[in-house]
Amino acid sequence: MSALAQNYKRKNLSFVKGKGSFLITAKGKKYLDFVQGIAVNSLGHANKKLINAINKQSKKLWHVSNAFKIPEGEKLAGRLVKKTFADSVIFQNSGAEATEAAIKVARRYFYSIGKENKNRIICIKNSFHGRTIAAIHASGSKKMTQGFGPKIPGFDHFNFGDHNKLKKLINKNTAAIMIETVMGEGGIKVVPSWCIKAIRKLCNQKGILLILDEVQCGIGRSGKFFAFEYAKVKPDIVPIAKGIGGGFPIGAVLMTKKVAKAMIPGTHGSTFGGNPLAMAVGNAVLDQINNNLLNNVNKMSNYFITNLEKLKKKYPKLIKEVRGVGLLIGLQLFDDQTFFIKKLMENNLLTIRAAENVVRILPPLNVKKSEIDIALKAINKVCNELN
Ligand SMILES: *Cc1c(COP(=O)(O)O)cnc(C)c1O
Repeated sequence: MSALAQNYKRKNLSFVKGKGSFLITAKGKKYLDFVQGIAVNSLGHANKKLINAINKQSKKLWHVSNAFKIPEGEKLAGRLVKKTFADSVIFQNSGAEATEAAIKVARRYFYSIGKENKNRIICIKNSFHGRTIAAIHASGSKKMTQGFGPKIPGFDHFNFGDHNKLKKLINKNTAAIMIETVMGEGGIKVVPSWCIKAIRKLCNQKGILLILDEVQCGIGRSGKFFAFEYAKVKPDIVPIAKGIGGGFPIGAVLMTKKVAKAMIPGTHGSTFGGNPLAMAVGNAVLDQINNNLLNNVNKMSNYFITNLEKLKKKYPKLIKEVRGVGLLIGLQLFDDQTFFIKKLMENNLLTIRAAENVVRILPPLNVKKSEIDIALKAINKVCNELN
């Protein structure tokens, strides 16, 4: 019996090391890892520059309180601001913390302008914003909130695509609309650019804020630094996490100066958030999220998706849809995907589930064509067996 609680249905498989796109077991068996810690190891395993950065910083200084200036954090925030819509950053340690901070910023902004009652957040039903008490209620998922009452008020929900309901939900107490630009856990559902644009317009008309959760789809995974760049909009608040740490836990909320002004001393904090060790790694990740890498994401994405579409044609009773953007790819099956994922694993390919029978495929952003070929071969083999 494991001393670990049983809150995960873990596979009976573990690893002793990783290298790029691969994970290796104690017995030396090699798996192609197209989970990458769920979009976390954006640069693959054991990235040399990240190893150097953490080694170097670990000998100097790990942690100091946010009561003091942290130059490594000043630097990372400055770079994120220079690169994006944002004027200001608060560092956290995880995605859930980042989305919670996003909610706090939105509410505190309206409070700061004397509109304290403007505090409701509109979200998509069965979306995913993390596992803390507020985040599960933001997600509006029965499965995630069950047994964790009382219900946290302040969140309203509409179904993905139900624009009439969304419009009806907006009232004088609405502070923000918060959606994932690409729904990850919800089944790799890309919110179309025209829709993001229309939501931005709606927010402007109603004087409410737009929060785009880019915890999973952000930091290059979509083929652009942020997935919302496809829609050419400017959000007000963007929580990030997963990819920015390359495997080190980092979260952050990015925001415009308009809302950041509300976050005066004492309004928010985190003991660990933005410590020198984390920031050194974050900077080393950002060094590598350049145009070359984004080009690779787009090229590899096209290649992967084109060939998955071919497999869909070849196995029309098995594969319902290929969806996603960049290297956030979903293979939607007609039936439950559990067995399919297990078979892929038996063929040394690691993938992970998402809602709606989706097999989620998350290669590192520096994946090679030859590695995608290995994956395609395994997927074809499993389809052939199950056909
Ligand atoms: C993973 C995820 C989160 C939560 O991140 P944690 O680090 O697990 O707390 C929030 N939002 C989205 C879109 C995610 O994919």
